[in-house]
Amino acid sequence: MPAEEVLQHLKGDRRRGLSEAEARERLDQWGPNRLPPPRKRSTLWRLLSQFNNLLIYVLLSSAFVTLLLGDYVDTTVIVAVVVLNACLGSIQEGKAEKAIEAVRDLLSPSACVLREGHRKTIPAEQLVPGDLVLLQSGDKVPADLRLIEVRSLSIDEAVLTGESVPVEKIVAPVASDAPVGDRLCMAHSGTLVTYGQGIGVVTATGTATEIGRISTLLAQVGARATPLLVKIEQFARWLTAIILGAAAATFAFGWLTRGLDLKETFMAAVSLAVAAIPEGLPAIVTITLAVGVQRMAKRNAILRKLPAVETLGSVTVICSDKTGTLTRNEMTVHTVVTADDEIRVGGAGYRPQGGFSRNGIAALVTADLPHLLELARAGLLCNDATLHEENGGWRLDGDPTEGALVTLAYKAGLNPAFEQEALPRIDAIPFESQHRFMATLHRDLSGHGLIFLKGAPEVVLERCHRQRRQGQDEPIDPALWHRRTTEIAARGQRLLALAVKPLAKPAEALTFEDTEGGFTLLGVVGMLDPARPEAVEAVARCLSAGIRVKMITGDHAVTACAVGAELGIGDGTRALTGTEIEGLDAPALRRAVGEVDVFARASPEHKLRLVKALREAGHVVSMTGDGVNDAPALKAAHIGVAMGQRGTEVAKEAADMVLADDNFATIAAAVEEGRTVYDNLRKTLLFIMPTNGGEGGVIIAAILLRHGPSGHPLADPLG
Ligand code: ADP
Ligand code: MG
Repeated sequence: MPAEEVLQHLKGDRRRGLSEAEARERLDQWGPNRLPPPRKRSTLWRLLSQFNNLLIYVLLSSAFVTLLLGDYVDTTVIVAVVVLNACLGSIQEGKAEKAIEAVRDLLSPSACVLREGHRKTIPAEQLVPGDLVLLQSGDKVPADLRLIEVRSLSIDEAVLTGESVPVEKIVAPVASDAPVGDRLCMAHSGTLVTYGQGIGVVTATGTATEIGRISTLLAQVGARATPLLVKIEQFARWLTAIILGAAAATFAFGWLTRGLDLKETFMAAVSLAVAAIPEGLPAIVTITLAVGVQRMAKRNAILRKLPAVETLGSVTVICSDKTGTLTRNEMTVHTVVTADDEIRVGGAGYRPQGGFSRNGIAALVTADLPHLLELARAGLLCNDATLHEENGGWRLDGDPTEGALVTLAYKAGLNPAFEQEALPRIDAIPFESQHRFMATLHRDLSGHGLIFLKGAPEVVLERCHRQRRQGQDEPIDPALWHRRTTEIAARGQRLLALAVKPLAKPAEALTFEDTEGGFTLLGVVGMLDPARPEAVEAVARCLSAGIRVKMITGDHAVTACAVGAELGIGDGTRALTGTEIEGLDAPALRRAVGEVDVFARASPEHKLRLVKALREAGHVVSMTGDGVNDAPALKAAHIGVAMGQRGTEVAKEAADMVLADDNFATIAAAVEEGRTVYDNLRKTLLFIMPTNGGEGGVIIAAILLRHGPSGHPLADPLG
């Protein structure tokens, strides 16, 4: 069916989306958009499963034999032991299950929809058929959608089709009986957007979706066995066999060679088994890990996989993104450099208050600074962020780097709505860490076109052959810009260059070719992103605990060094850039990662190489990431860490741990917590093994020495 018909059929509105009232009604009708949770084991079932254990079989058979022998007291004691063990076990397992479930809830996804004409982010559970959903790279598709608009939209449908190559989506209808993998005009719930953007109308939610139908549960927190657990369980099984053998041998020895009383010898052998087998061990390990998961969740570190608790405790290197994790990700423009002059900008945060000054002379009127105005306008239009005043504070919607430019525009006296009307946007190439720029195509009221370009200075300068000075274009002076940008970067400021290209007749769409050259440089801005005070502290704590901290950023090397020094990472002078990393072969890189702590102008591929190099050097590596392209590095790291707020669903899916607060200090806290868990496990093992062994040994010795154990052999059956 053509997209319009689908939309009509679902009574959706292409421009405004559903109204809230309609959405509520449909939610009542169709139910929430979620899959039924995995069937929980009932309390009774959990209790019964406790009896499914080799040791319990041994105990129950001995209870049966004592019953036949008429020794009712012993029977009672053994049965009591079994029941008590089962009760304790099931209570503890119940607690562990609850802890994991609570963590699972923390990871529930959200969706960006159009309702009543506004973009809104809502919990994916509240989606209803007919809703308009906006998709962009990194999102997990929240329901089954019929696409009505795509922009190079590619989706990874491996969860549904097993095909790992992303599929390029289209709007044109396909045959209604096409198999899932060929439904190019559909985006299915649970699949991942790897590139581009799109809009789709919800056609099915919850169990009616394709994924709901095949009812595979999506990757969630699994209570899956950890390597340590598997090892311990194997060990316990062996131990049980050995102990049973020993018990049998003791029995045979006592009865046959020493001629002891049959009944007494049998009881001694049983008590030997009960004492020596560490029946509580696997349960203790699971519980210690689950409690660790819970404690970490309280500290904002959400573990997606149980084994991660173990691994966390042994991390030796933490690689962290700079922006937003080590810093506050609250950018403010402090410096504006044009070919004419350098202007300082006052104020802090996103609040549009603060004046301009030049050479220390303050309070300039923006009318005297036409070049500043032009640059601020470019920054405002080549921008997807918006600022709202909300109970006294200014709240940002969008990327902080872009938010800083909106604030700058306000400070320069520009009005976003007015500017956007005068130069409406036709098309855009969104920012990606890979290419480090963003470009927008505009048409003015007389029909001429304009392309604005903003991005990292190297990238933008490469595309400019002119610079603007006093309203006129003149050939660009690269040496001048190089000198000035290095100066600002040395103050720890993030750099962004802005450029413009006029077009006689604007095209309908913007391509990468259009952005390849012919631009005029308007200027460069420097913005400051203050370090998180708690991150500074956490870095120091990590270092003193013997954990190395490496900072990875897309920023300029000089900026990165300055910020690193402020945080206590690196020596403030050495940074390795992405280009330098590319020039190194594997052994050289392995050596370099041992020496350098700051990595600048790094893109996701560089992260992957860094992780590999660190692993080869024998480190246990934790790596952070937020974008789609970070997924391979997150998977390659021992502990992949995704940002809970800023991160894409793709990154979260690939990660072992998600930070609810995007804060470096949380990683450090989780590692600390992990060490405690590891320590506790070790202590438990060290305690249980000798005590169990010792108890068994006492009984063996007693029989060998021909003395029945004094008192009752089952005095301490739980051992
Ligand atoms: P980081 O890891 O520090 O967030 P990014 O890859 O996001 O690094 O950014 C690298 C560089 O790209 C920045 O230093 C800046 O010059 C430029 N940049 C960042 N965000 C944007 C944006 N929204 N639009 C244009 N350029 C940007
Ligand atoms: Mg960034």
